Amino acid sequence: MESMEPLVSRRKTKIVATLGPSSKDPAVILQLLEAGLDMVRINCSHGTPEDREALFGNVRRLADDLGLFIPVMFDLQGPKIRIGAVEAPFELKEGDQLSIKVGRGTGNRDLVYTSFASFARDVKSGEPILIDDGRVRLVARSIENDTVTAEVEVGGLVSDRKGINLPQTAVSAQSVSEKDVADLKDAIRLGADFVAISFVRNAKDVQRIKALAQDFGSHHVQFIAKIERPEAVRNIRDIIDVSDGVMVARGDLGVEVGSHRVPMIQKEIITRANMADRFVITATQMLDSMMQRPIPTRAESSDVANAIIDGTDACMLSGETASGKYPIESLEMMVRIARETENHALYRYQVPAVAKGSIHRIPDGIGMAAYQIGSLMNARLFVAFTNSGSSALKLSKKHPDCVIMGATIHRHIARRMRAYWGVYPVLLEEPSSLEAMFEQVKLKIKQMGMVQKGDLVILTAGHPMWTSGSTNLVKAMIVDEGESSHEVY
Ligand code: PGA
Ligand code: MN
Repeated sequence: MESMEPLVSRRKTKIVATLGPSSKDPAVILQLLEAGLDMVRINCSHGTPEDREALFGNVRRLADDLGLFIPVMFDLQGPKIRIGAVEAPFELKEGDQLSIKVGRGTGNRDLVYTSFASFARDVKSGEPILIDDGRVRLVARSIENDTVTAEVEVGGLVSDRKGINLPQTAVSAQSVSEKDVADLKDAIRLGADFVAISFVRNAKDVQRIKALAQDFGSHHVQFIAKIERPEAVRNIRDIIDVSDGVMVARGDLGVEVGSHRVPMIQKEIITRANMADRFVITATQMLDSMMQRPIPTRAESSDVANAIIDGTDACMLSGETASGKYPIESLEMMVRIARETENHALYRYQVPAVAKGSIHRIPDGIGMAAYQIGSLMNARLFVAFTNSGSSALKLSKKHPDCVIMGATIHRHIARRMRAYWGVYPVLLEEPSSLEAMFEQVKLKIKQMGMVQKGDLVILTAGHPMWTSGSTNLVKAMIVDEGESSHEVY
């Protein structure tokens, strides 16, 4: 059972799995948790609020039963443009005409509706209109009042509520939909750990959701900006700046910018997130063929390995675990690829060089110093005492050779840290002194760590204790007794 491995030999790349019809059953969730799942994604584009609440409750309960800290991410649908319902699915052929009209109603093979109010104002003649993840391609030919008439370039099947992408259109700002507001409220009420924001274009889009979350009384939830629009790629620095993490959302991104541009954009987003100490998830189609078959294509295995080599913190499963035939096998395969890749002699994460005088905050300096001591001296384990998770994140972002124990007194921080590369959380009782804290950690290491006599452990902490942003100490310790003895140090 992967989830019970000794701390020092645990997998470092984290795995996010989307739960859905194939995996909502508690027995399957339990199997996923045991197989090493690190973070759950609940996709608000599917199911009812009641379904999602039940799913959330089951995840929390099962993780608690196993003594695991597992974060849950609610993924908001965002301003996805869609066509409305159609009388019956229909086939479009090259050269056919299709009109798209703003409004509500049931469409047919000549006219479909969209609820996106500024559709006919935004789309210009000559711009592409893609339906169903880019499978059907049209070009706008004429615009009259609230109707765009387009010519089919690549045909295909069109059915109810398929998504529309407008890769070359300057899409106007859409107010946050009622559905997103309701889903965000639910996520906060339930106590979600992360909220993913779809189709962001700039920093403002992220800030708008953050402000709403605050109005709803959120204190702890963290925000992941999904990078899936060309504008978001252009504004990546500002978006990273205001977000807690980003997702390389390759599904819509591939439709919007073209599949051929995805690999290098992925590297760019990951590199920038890493430089800014932000958490990054690589998502979509990682093991896509495993929706139907128990083994992936070689290209898919390579894709997972290469995302890890690019420096991603986490890899995500979407359809594979949500609606595929092999949810458990998909997770197990990702676990195996991640382990093989991380443990290979050729895997080396290059920490970006830091210039003299370029670190200004003490916790950043401590993180760098701890990382350097640990790597120069081949440490066996890092321990970050942390109030907000941020000192664990700083160490994590250097992707060191050894695992990081994230020690905290807050449950929600323990869950948050489980998402971070190489970090495994432990929950401490509130200690009365630094010494008392060290004692608790020694005990945890003895219980979970498998450290041995002569091993080096590097700790970071703050004094006075448990104030966010107060990390100002590094402690290096040699374990002087074996794990079976009474005293670790
Ligand atoms: P989605 O986002 O699965 O919500 O569309 C991920 C992506 O577009 O890659
Ligand atoms: Mn998407």
